[in-house]
Amino acid sequence: MEYDVAVIGGGAAGMMAAITAAQAGAHTVLIEGGERLGKKLFITGKGRCNLTNACDTAEFFDHVNANPRFLYSPIYDFDAAAVMQFVESLGCPLKTERGERVFPVSDRSADVINALERALRKYGVDVKKNTKAAGLLRESAAEENPKKYRVTGVFLDNGDKISAKAVIAATGGVSYSSTGSDGSFFQSLMTLGHTVTALHPALVPLVLKEETASQMMGLSLKNVSVTLKCEKKKYKEGPGEMLFTHFGVSGPLILTLSSIYSRNYGGRSNMLTESFSIKKEYAKKFDKENDFGHNLKNYVEGKEADLYIDLKPGMTEEEIDARLIREISENRKKNYSNLISSFVPGQMKDVFPIIAGIDPSKKADQISREERRITAETLKKMHFTVIGTRDFNEAIVTSGGINVKEVDPSTMQSKLADGLYICGEMLDTDAQTGGYNLQTAWSTGHLAGLCAAGADM
Ligand SMILES: Cc1cc2nc3c(=O)[nH]c(=O)nc-3n(C[C@H](O)[C@H](O)[C@H](O)COP(=O)(O)OP(=O)(O)OC[C@H]3O[C@@H](n4cnc5c(N)ncnc54)[C@H](O)[C@@H]3O)c2cc1C
Repeated sequence: MEYDVAVIGGGAAGMMAAITAAQAGAHTVLIEGGERLGKKLFITGKGRCNLTNACDTAEFFDHVNANPRFLYSPIYDFDAAAVMQFVESLGCPLKTERGERVFPVSDRSADVINALERALRKYGVDVKKNTKAAGLLRESAAEENPKKYRVTGVFLDNGDKISAKAVIAATGGVSYSSTGSDGSFFQSLMTLGHTVTALHPALVPLVLKEETASQMMGLSLKNVSVTLKCEKKKYKEGPGEMLFTHFGVSGPLILTLSSIYSRNYGGRSNMLTESFSIKKEYAKKFDKENDFGHNLKNYVEGKEADLYIDLKPGMTEEEIDARLIREISENRKKNYSNLISSFVPGQMKDVFPIIAGIDPSKKADQISREERRITAETLKKMHFTVIGTRDFNEAIVTSGGINVKEVDPSTMQSKLADGLYICGEMLDTDAQTGGYNLQTAWSTGHLAGLCAAGADM
């Protein structure tokens, strides 16, 4: 049977693309490798699904880390308000929380998935689960340019073929590969000449060199600022929240900084070559872009960078010193670690003197002016060394993907192969936390579905 549109990948982007194409009248098939649709969607927002961000559309692009301009057309074509109206029209009421983050009223991601599945049924999309696409059917697009292809369908890993007038690739990135997005379909697009930019884990915890960090494991800090310094460039985030873990740091401020670190200074994981076998000819191409050198367990080594935590963003070093003088005069016989506990959380009181290099048993009245200066400086700029990130299994998104220069942003059609559309996290664009990544998936999926169906724009 020939379909008008075949969509590969039943995640957020693929489901949206399939619904939109079918709604526009195209006979559509959705091909999903896993046993369920929306497996990643299910775990988003800690199971609550932060499905978009209700900020002004123009503001959206400030939250995109890579290639925001590429997203102008898809986002303006189908913005957060359109997504919210669409999901609510499917019987899933929504609410907007702090930071304009949008969730289903029920706080259940399953309700968003159920709503999308109802729409797939309503518009008659033929859904094929447990069906893995292994490649694309193609022919030369034109005699005068035999290198330009026309995609004519999909071939499956069981050898079957599905013919379609247009194919939408929506197989995701490579993070949380247990949800189905293992990156294997990148190779099929590379056979058509597409390139994949360097892939890095993004929105991912940072690994630190110092043991003092792991000694504070579990400590969550609120209302702190964090600065990342690498190769003379500084990136500041906060005030906000972060936390210490057994390997380093995580939490909202750190995840935001991690995307900058990963893209500019991070290493590349060899997880891709482990998770699927890339044919030799493409492996070379991949290796050129992706130096799969380092992959310690769960850890992707990157360039060393300095991380400074400002524990008192509301105070200057002079104000801290004045408070220290007051505390010392009122508590002359207290030792240093007890004195410092009125400035830092309890879990930090034993580690702080180690970081500051001051004897914790020293009595308050013996603390020198220089030690006060070091104390204030440590409170304002507690220093750690970033040596890498956790790997793709802990990365909320993938930084890197199909080079956006090879995709027409006004249609999502490949510039290298007629009839092929690409959307979602496969593309080299990623954003901060707050619903922006799912909005990208909905918007690019919607535009791809509309254009693949040949609907008037
Ligand atoms: C833990 C976690 C929490 C997150 N929380 C949020 C959040 O709250 N808000 C937000 O905006 N973003 C969030 N994200 C990011 C967001 O989930 C992704 O950016 C988004 O799901 C990408 O959608 P996608 O459709 O492009 O890819 P995916 O959702 O990864 O879907 C790709 C689909 O393609 C299928 N597939 C892959 N290869 C094949 C093949 N060869 N044949 C057939 N099918 C195939 C996969 O099985 C998968 O179902 C989170 C991510 C994670 C990991």
